[in-house]
Amino acid sequence: MSAPGPADVLADVIVVAAGASRRMDGIDKMLVPIAGRPMLAWTLEALAASPVVGRMVVVASAGNIAEISGAPWLPALVTRVVVGGDRRQGSVSAGVDALGQGQAAADAAERVILVHDGARPLVSATLIESVARAVELHGAAIPVMPVAETVKRVADELVAETVDRSDLVTAQTPQGVRAGLLARAYELYPPDGPETWTDEAALLEACRIPVHVVPGDPSNLKVTQPADLRRVEAMLPRSTMTRVGIGHDSHPFGPGEPLALGGIVIDGAPRLFGHSDGDVVLHALADALLGAAGLGDLGRLFPADSRTPRGIPSAELLAEVRDRVAAAGWRPASADLTIVAARPRLGGHLDSMRDAIAALLRLDPEAVNVKASSGNLDGSEGAGRGISALAVATVAVAS
Ligand code: MG
Repeated sequence: MSAPGPADVLADVIVVAAGASRRMDGIDKMLVPIAGRPMLAWTLEALAASPVVGRMVVVASAGNIAEISGAPWLPALVTRVVVGGDRRQGSVSAGVDALGQGQAAADAAERVILVHDGARPLVSATLIESVARAVELHGAAIPVMPVAETVKRVADELVAETVDRSDLVTAQTPQGVRAGLLARAYELYPPDGPETWTDEAALLEACRIPVHVVPGDPSNLKVTQPADLRRVEAMLPRSTMTRVGIGHDSHPFGPGEPLALGGIVIDGAPRLFGHSDGDVVLHALADALLGAAGLGDLGRLFPADSRTPRGIPSAELLAEVRDRVAAAGWRPASADLTIVAARPRLGGHLDSMRDAIAALLRLDPEAVNVKASSGNLDGSEGAGRGISALAVATVAVAS
């Protein structure tokens, strides 16, 4: 298999997230938090990370469409969020309609459509690509798993027989089909007709369209009951559970004393000019945290005007940022800071800054690093006209 490149983007994905969650004790499983984020957010992120996925359409229930449409975690590849039907086939058909809009007619029939359960957040890039490639070759394909346990047929609460499982498999998603083949199937069996199909493959089988199988992935769990949520949480890849953000700020010296810097006060040093107390280190750190959590920047959160109290301690701004980051499902994990200042001399204050910042972020001091440079006589910092700070912060999924 060749490495996928830009030319290999070949599949549109319909994510079915309109189910009634009947086995979930009345909670809407699509939006239930797993490791601090809605399950659907994990599913969409996994799909968006696949290089073969182009556009995505999410099919939601009427009850959660507003929340999903406006969700900050919706990947840019999601072009539409539409309301689904009572049955799975109605939802998929609504997704097909949504994809059809804006599609060039010339290649429309050739497009690969993948249908994926919103309740399968652990789908891997390997499985997505494997199904998409099989659809390219064969027209329709699904991932399947062998049946590991002995299968019994039961009648009247008694075992009636043991079923030969040698040719039995269970079907996973994503299931894939070329758009033209699916359109043909819809002509034979309209989605609003009397027949009910439990998956897309069942419809294609009824139309005698060959459906090829590829090996499924045992990790590709479908969340159907509350206990599955904890299993999925334990299996989420660590790499997706950490984010990095960067922040930079600089302020000139203003009139007066003392200097607020790195969460401490340095008496006898000139203060920095600013709407707040001017603590460039905390401002850079706040921007890094907001960046890591995908929440914009400090300037948008606290505009330097009457909406933000003049002279507000930057520790209060950072505490608010910390709480917003937590509300988005993240917690600060580490921070590394470089301060550039020719004056005052900062060497003796760096440990106090580290401890103050660790306390503000509720971190171990070992997870915070503060260093300083004199600016080497370069730029306005090196000339002693101001101070700048650079911050890199990581956040981890809150648990
Ligand atoms: Mg600032």
